[in-house]
Amino acid sequence: MKKSKSSELFDTAKNLMPGGVSSPVRAIKPYPFYTKKAGGSKIITEDDEILTDCCMAYGPLLLGHSPQCVKEAIRNQVEKGWIYGTPSETEIKLAKIIIRDYPSIDMCRFVSSGSEATMAAIRLARGFTKKKDIIKIEGGFHGAHDGVLIQAGSGATTMGVPDSAGVIPDIVSHTAQVPYNDLESLESIISKSDDIAAFIIEPVMGNVGPILPGDDYLQEVRKITKENDVLLICDEVICGYRVGIGGAQVKYNISPDLTTLGKIVGGGLPIGVFGGRRDIMEMVAPAGPVYQAGTFSGNPLSMSAGIAMLEYIHKNSLIYQKLDENTRIIHESIPKGHSCSFVRLGSMFKLFFRDSPPRNYIEAKQSDTQKFGEFWKKMLKEGIFLPPSQFETNFISSAHTDEDIEKIAGAYSRCL
Ligand SMILES: *Cc1c(COP(=O)(O)O)cnc(C)c1O
Repeated sequence: MKKSKSSELFDTAKNLMPGGVSSPVRAIKPYPFYTKKAGGSKIITEDDEILTDCCMAYGPLLLGHSPQCVKEAIRNQVEKGWIYGTPSETEIKLAKIIIRDYPSIDMCRFVSSGSEATMAAIRLARGFTKKKDIIKIEGGFHGAHDGVLIQAGSGATTMGVPDSAGVIPDIVSHTAQVPYNDLESLESIISKSDDIAAFIIEPVMGNVGPILPGDDYLQEVRKITKENDVLLICDEVICGYRVGIGGAQVKYNISPDLTTLGKIVGGGLPIGVFGGRRDIMEMVAPAGPVYQAGTFSGNPLSMSAGIAMLEYIHKNSLIYQKLDENTRIIHESIPKGHSCSFVRLGSMFKLFFRDSPPRNYIEAKQSDTQKFGEFWKKMLKEGIFLPPSQFETNFISSAHTDEDIEKIAGAYSRCL
């Protein structure tokens, strides 16, 4: 039998890159399909299959693959150069949009990935408070750096290596974990220590689900952290501009001390942002003593792509209603009587193979991953690409047409 091009490429890649891939979640068994090109809601594979994408690069592509507005912005910028090593006006423009959209952000710093943003935000919180420990949500994912690699969601969970080798226990011993949607555990940890610099949380858990916050959970989190002088860091790398302009913090009406952004705000190019209260941000070098730096930080190409993306969203904010409507249609296509639960928020959604929507990581982990695996393969045969893990959020974009949504909905009902 003739081998597929993807399979051949993967055979070569395996010897060149660990696991054949540049990021673990892309390692699909027995081999991942290779993408030749992508546009709108579609991925075209090296074997010329056309797939309807519900992964959307794990979050950045709110407007679909290679949207016209971002493409033009990138083209225009390329003519003027893509990295200067000096400030450029593009940084000011993007900062102004973000600061206007996020009332809790007075100042921000651009970096090149979400991981870099959370790493810097945590260092900043420690530098500002002069305290050592942080609290995170059990299973919450904040990137791939040492201090947060404890039973993280996403790649780490799926691969069955909750603790990464190479992470020194001393570092992790300064990171405590509490279950999502559990105020008692949070209060209990906070009451036992006065050395807690910050609580970092994805307001909507995007890397295990989505898992949604219970009534008033986030408001109570804000209250508890404020009363105990613990900084609140909202990691909105996924939900920023995904659940709406101003992200989850505007939707749920909370005001964190620091916020991290990434994914959507770079229009699909590498980016990370951390920002927040002026008195805290002014601690960042060169204004203050907390060091942070990067060769590619604020590069004009990512800035221009981000500006184009966010300006488009502002001019077309009705897309959020349409996205919400579209995941509702998918939800309603799920036949009754299966032991599964559908969770959605705007353009984020997931079918969990368990009876009720999970409220935290442990509950999500009770899902039947074998069933998910079978379901995932069937969906791919129907031409629908879902993220290849029970613990990754599915996304749709504004480029998904009514026809796409009908196709996805139909596939859900057939494959179940
Ligand atoms: C993706 C993600 C990160 C890491 O961002 P990278 O750009 O992949 O480094 C951090 N936090 C959350 C919530 C994310 O979803």
